[in-house]
Amino acid sequence: MPKRDNRRVVTGVTLGVSDHTRDCEVLMSIPQQAQRPASGTAGPSPARQSASPVPDDRAPDAVADVVVVGGGGGGLPTALFSRWLGNEVVLLEKADELGGTARKAAFWYWVPNNEPMRAAGIVDDEADFLRYVARLARPTAYDPDSPTLGLTRWEYDMCRAIYESASPAAELLAEKGALEYRHCPDVPDYWSEIPEDKTPTGRVLVPAGARESMSDGGLVGVASMGAAARRDGVDIRTGHRAQRLVVRDGAVVGVEATTADGRTHRIAARKAVVFATGGFTHDVDLRRNFLHAPVYGGCAATTNEGDFLAIAGPVGAQLRNMNYAWMCPIPLERAVARDPGLIGMFSVAGDSMVFVDKTGHRVVNEKLQYNELAQRFFTYDGEKGEYPHLVLIQIWDQRSQDHSASDEYGRLIVPPGTDDSHVIRGETLDELAEAIAARLDRYKGVTGGLTLAPDFADNLRRTIDRFNAFAERGVDEDFHRGEKPIQFVFNGPVREEPDRANPTMWPISGQGPYYAALVTGGTLDTKGGPRTNPDGQVLDDTGAPVPGLYGVGNCVASASGQAYWAGGATLGPIIAFAHRAAQAADREPVREPSTQLTTA
Ligand SMILES: Cc1cc2nc3c(=O)[nH]c(=O)nc-3n(C[C@H](O)[C@H](O)[C@H](O)COP(=O)(O)OP(=O)(O)OC[C@H]3O[C@@H](n4cnc5c(N)ncnc54)[C@H](O)[C@@H]3O)c2cc1C
Repeated sequence: MPKRDNRRVVTGVTLGVSDHTRDCEVLMSIPQQAQRPASGTAGPSPARQSASPVPDDRAPDAVADVVVVGGGGGGLPTALFSRWLGNEVVLLEKADELGGTARKAAFWYWVPNNEPMRAAGIVDDEADFLRYVARLARPTAYDPDSPTLGLTRWEYDMCRAIYESASPAAELLAEKGALEYRHCPDVPDYWSEIPEDKTPTGRVLVPAGARESMSDGGLVGVASMGAAARRDGVDIRTGHRAQRLVVRDGAVVGVEATTADGRTHRIAARKAVVFATGGFTHDVDLRRNFLHAPVYGGCAATTNEGDFLAIAGPVGAQLRNMNYAWMCPIPLERAVARDPGLIGMFSVAGDSMVFVDKTGHRVVNEKLQYNELAQRFFTYDGEKGEYPHLVLIQIWDQRSQDHSASDEYGRLIVPPGTDDSHVIRGETLDELAEAIAARLDRYKGVTGGLTLAPDFADNLRRTIDRFNAFAERGVDEDFHRGEKPIQFVFNGPVREEPDRANPTMWPISGQGPYYAALVTGGTLDTKGGPRTNPDGQVLDDTGAPVPGLYGVGNCVASASGQAYWAGGATLGPIIAFAHRAAQAADREPVREPSTQLTTA
């Protein structure tokens, strides 16, 4: 093997490969203590009821200028921005605590042309930003010479809005002490290597109080935004599930929510109702009928059941981007068990480690960024009429067990003392194959009867021999593992090997014990829903805004199409749209409730 320093410096990021957690290697890691159930998942939330809108025919139980529905990544900043504009704000949250999926997040937020970049003289031009996002959102339509770069006018305008508003929104949250941030100048975008990415690093911010590894960014961000909301007088009501709109003369003038005691609360909105209720990850029927892939579920807050789709339908909302989701690999067994603490595998651990399919062959670059890695599970074989990679098997040896074990970021190689019920063991590869077959047998009811091929163990031996030869040379001729900057960010801790060329690979031992786990693809959350304009106004079938109705975050259509542009590419844009929606809602004409407030 060629002599080489194993600490790669990629566009200024030193990406260590030791057992120690340092720099960006572990930036997206979530410790076990942060892997708590999503907000409110412990208690039962009120059941879904009819979403048919009701007329403004009775006195409301409460009145606000702006009613925000959903207290997670989109709802909290929307409530704050609205309040700071002088509005009375009620925030309704279905779960029994704030945070939603954002609580589980590392909470990177991707902010183009952010203030620290400008201060450092890093150029991030709008035109370049738009080329990067357009190229990845709609690769087949991308045309650098088209005025909209091949995007639809709507997609183009939405992307422009992200560029324009993400930084002012982040700055305002920071100035008000609601979300102070730390700049991560060296974190690369997920396609930092493509020519369209003229600003490959510098767009990522994280909550200032998050630990160095950024593992608790979501907990910190939700806590600080929640505290600011309380401090500044947002009326927060948890345990309230919005069920339907209240309408008058074609305008939305309120919302009805139910609580666990069976009561219905009508909250009038003088200006607007803003939904930020997350995606539909936890509604099996919606997943089955809209997503492009047969996923088992995902790691969104379990209260994210696509409620806004039913609620916005009756007022004519048109849907977009229903087929795509923010995706990541997930452990099959926890997904099937619908474990509310499920964390996606944002970083696949280990160097002496491979993924193989049921025939014992590698089929993917295991270190591919998570959204792209997840797609691989859903390749359809039209000859055989099956998804041959629906479940892949992660295989590792004692070396990776000793040096890559981590209770962070959904990694499956876990340290002693943590829940390792997903780990399958064998002293030899034959023993391991038998144990994998037995484990798969337990799940055949949900995998279409998936079993190992009879020659799995022989193929696995050949696969390991081939992988080991690649690892010796540091070049993965089959899947190009370790060839792109972002793959080192997600490599996770591995044993120091001063001589090696490629820290993502090391030969798998000829000696047992060996370990395995079952992996499939899942969602962080979905990204389709009612189409809004760049100000968050929900559009009807004619393209006109539904007066008084807004949407922000994963409950509405994302213009990102299939892309996951960078770490933080969900929350950065969400904060931008929260800012825009709050401003537009503030400009709405005041619509007083037609009957008096209930005084009881
Ligand atoms: C493990 C993990 C790590 C992640 N890391 C990052 C990251 O580093 N950077 C990034 O950009 N993104 C990250 N994400 C994704 C990010 O958390 C989400 O995209 C973001 O939280 C979405 O915000 P939202 O407001 O749309 O939904 P959520 O944050 O899920 O909030 C939706 C809220 O609405 C509530 N709700 C649902 N229905 C109703 C109803 N009918 N009435 C009232 N309330 C309702 C829910 O209970 C929930 O609290 C991560 C996700 C996961 C799972």
